[in-house]
Amino acid sequence: MEKEEIISDSKDIYRVANTDVLSHLNLEETGLSNQEIDKRISMFGKNKLKEVKGKPLILVFLANFTSMMALLLWASGIIAIIAEMPQLGIAVWCVNIINGLFSFWQEFQAGKATDALKNMLPSYARVVRNGEEQQILAEDLVPGDIVLVAEGDKISVDARLIEASDLQVDQSTLTGESNPVRKVSDAVLKEGLSPFEISNMIHAGTSVSSGTGKAVVIATAMETEFGKIADLTQNMEEELSPLQKELNVLTKQISLIALGIGVVFFVVSVFFVKDGFAKSFIFALGMIVAFIPEGLLPTVTLSLAMAVQRMSKEHALVKKLSAVETLGCTTVICSDKTGTLTQNEMTVSNLWTVDGEYDVTGLGYAPEGNVEVNGASVNVKGNKDLDTLIRLSALCNNAKILPPSEESDRYTVLGDPTEACLSVVAQKSGYSLEEIFKNEPRLRELPFDSSRKRMTTVHQSFGERLAYVKGAPKEVMELSNKILVGGMVRDITESERQEIMEANDSYARKGLRVLAFAYRNLNEVDNLPKAMSAYTPELIEEDLVFVGLMAMSDPARPEVKDAVELCHKASIRIIMITGDYGLTAESIAKQIGIVHGENPRVITGKELYELSDEQLQEALEEEVIFARVAPEQKYRVVSCLQTMDHIVAVTGDGVNDAPALKKADIGVAMGITGTDVAKEAADVILTDDNFASIVKAVEEGRTVYSNIRKFLTYILNSNMSEAVPSAAFLFSRGGIPLPLTVMQILAIDLGTDMLPALGLGTELPEAGIMNVPPRSRDDSLLNKKTIIKAFLWYGLIASIIAMACYFYINFKNGYSFSNLAADGLVYRQATTMTLAAIVFCQIGAVLNCRTEKQSVFKMGIFSNKKVLIGIVFEIFLMAFMMYVPFMQSIFDTAPLGVTEWIILAIIPIPVFLIEEYRKKIVRNKVQKEEQ
Ligand code: ATP
Repeated sequence: MEKEEIISDSKDIYRVANTDVLSHLNLEETGLSNQEIDKRISMFGKNKLKEVKGKPLILVFLANFTSMMALLLWASGIIAIIAEMPQLGIAVWCVNIINGLFSFWQEFQAGKATDALKNMLPSYARVVRNGEEQQILAEDLVPGDIVLVAEGDKISVDARLIEASDLQVDQSTLTGESNPVRKVSDAVLKEGLSPFEISNMIHAGTSVSSGTGKAVVIATAMETEFGKIADLTQNMEEELSPLQKELNVLTKQISLIALGIGVVFFVVSVFFVKDGFAKSFIFALGMIVAFIPEGLLPTVTLSLAMAVQRMSKEHALVKKLSAVETLGCTTVICSDKTGTLTQNEMTVSNLWTVDGEYDVTGLGYAPEGNVEVNGASVNVKGNKDLDTLIRLSALCNNAKILPPSEESDRYTVLGDPTEACLSVVAQKSGYSLEEIFKNEPRLRELPFDSSRKRMTTVHQSFGERLAYVKGAPKEVMELSNKILVGGMVRDITESERQEIMEANDSYARKGLRVLAFAYRNLNEVDNLPKAMSAYTPELIEEDLVFVGLMAMSDPARPEVKDAVELCHKASIRIIMITGDYGLTAESIAKQIGIVHGENPRVITGKELYELSDEQLQEALEEEVIFARVAPEQKYRVVSCLQTMDHIVAVTGDGVNDAPALKKADIGVAMGITGTDVAKEAADVILTDDNFASIVKAVEEGRTVYSNIRKFLTYILNSNMSEAVPSAAFLFSRGGIPLPLTVMQILAIDLGTDMLPALGLGTELPEAGIMNVPPRSRDDSLLNKKTIIKAFLWYGLIASIIAMACYFYINFKNGYSFSNLAADGLVYRQATTMTLAAIVFCQIGAVLNCRTEKQSVFKMGIFSNKKVLIGIVFEIFLMAFMMYVPFMQSIFDTAPLGVTEWIILAIIPIPVFLIEEYRKKIVRNKVQKEEQ
């Protein structure tokens, strides 16, 4: 078929009866063949939207050179040149250009990171091709494909439904209508409808809120309605993260400090030293430039980007760079149970009917094992109750078990593990799944939903129409009034009800997950609607006949226990919020150490509805588990924790989890079991669904913040030793000739300091970083501690050393305090020595700044290669400035002798050791306080 033919056949396809859709489009029920798929891909291309063009690159580039700070520096450059200091003018411009290039590069990298993320997070689609159900990349869909959609799926094509079961679609991205819209497969004959009003069409860009459906793809990529409104995703403004906001404040703070110092120096220079306006201005300008932290933005981005990279190796994909840092402040993690804290590798271990209890042997999804009583094999098919239980569990089931293949040497699961393990029991009991499905074809499904906690399928079963129900025991029991005993149905007695719930509780206490199974003969129901599409849970799921229970184990993930302990050390609370039964949740919570008390409070979904906000807050102060809650209720817990000033990370996988994921400070979606909607709403996606990965991510978040602070301490530190020589000059009214020239200050700030500082941004987590409580929301990067440490402690030590070196050169050459060299070779050597002394102090300082409390020896002096490369670079740069004549003329430098180099080489040692000693005192103090 040609492209035009395919397109014209599919025009107005919504008017065709659903049973005729396939033949109308010349398609088979078995889906497209490989040959046809290739042909259609070459005709229609990939199902990908054309990249929406962002701001033109040139504008993004220019924006980095026109910020307030940049304009200030451009103007300063011009003034310097007018004042006949061209090298200073050019240097100031260079600062500006380097800074602009860095921030542009950073933006560019961040953009690339999101692109990479898009590739790492492909959307998948379930299709029928070559007669088989397959999972393929959504971008490989072509018109004519038969797609299967279910709750949580993001739809990436326009398609005509041929089957729909309770299907509701969220079209809000396209229509703005926030309520889900019901979709059906019947033909639509009404005229004048907008594309989104056609009830048998589903559209790209929307998502399934509930139910399931089967549809034929009509349009892909730019041909979809979504493609036509392609600029939808354009112009999405990113909200600033707390870190970005803090950085903005910080840059302003430091710019103000710089400006203030500049003004003071200018005034003193003009009125006190009487140096003249032009010279004083240049002098003040140098101070301003010296104090502006040029490398701050690049370092922040670098540390965030490195952390994102490390995190992706640890199975956490971060969607927004800034989310990394927010993770570091997390004070509470609200976690799901199934799959996150547990393995989600279900194995049924017990069957229970009112007549007896049975063990099921064998682990995992391989159909190897038996149903036994006291070690003796049981003939399941010969026991009517067991037979019904097994068939029911296999039929009310959407999972598929895949035998070992090239991709995996084990049996794997397509679909929900809770359902898959039920089919395994059927196989272990000697049933053929194919035969079961053939004997009792499915007519209708009322899909599982975590608020209802049940699922029902309707079957044509040997002349009867039966509804098979499975779900959480309490919920199923509330709807059952009869029981199957020895193949006979009779009213259920109160003591039997009790017996069933006791069995349930005793399994749950062992940490097992329990499902109950029941059925209803619909032939015996009066006034049922004729059309099965009108069946609703309210109509079908009542008057049930209870059949039995199945208990399955879902072991805790082995690494979770340590992760939980780490959280407790880090004063991060963990709150389990699960849809599962209270006793099961409690048992798992105890196993992995989430709760320590003998009787932790378990709040069920029902109780939660009745609690007032104040009562909920009170409950949240103590150890608490939320069980049998609906996902919508997570939102409430999250907001309540937030009003209690907590920074909350929350996990989720379902569509209904999306509001909580969005509300939380950090939404964490599950990569494997998560729906597209949850992934979209989240900030972080766990590719292994594992709780331990969240904890690692928190550690990275904390590291990033501490690295930024280390960097800041390091660069502020040299500012002090740069300012002190100038102050000495000013306050001695020129009696001490300027020990460090403006160009030399710039050489440190923009040359030697840069690389080691960037190295600090890549420092690995410090031991003990998870032994302290999360940083408080009020803590800021430039706090009192950082200022004291940088300016008064490191800064003062370096200033003393630098000035001592300056005087040393003078004294060595016969000058004295009252008569210091003011020009000529000795003066140049003296200033060069001051410059070199500061650079070598910075070598000690960069090593010091690598840790906050811990000894650097413990981290390994050579463990941060980037810092080491930075140190080697700065020594070479220093030598280059000293020995190359061209550089000497720019920086007013002169070569130093061997003795001077020996002194310089020794300088970092006391700088480093004094700080090591201080850290030791701090550590001892902390230890004493802990005892
Ligand atoms: P968590 O919220 O911690 O992941 P969960 O998987 O138990 O735990 P839900 O998926 O909301 O949470 O399930 C709620 C309850 O519904 C389960 O405890 C179980 O009793 C029942 N249930 C789960 N899956 C199915 C299913 N496929 N069919 C029928 N009932 C189910």
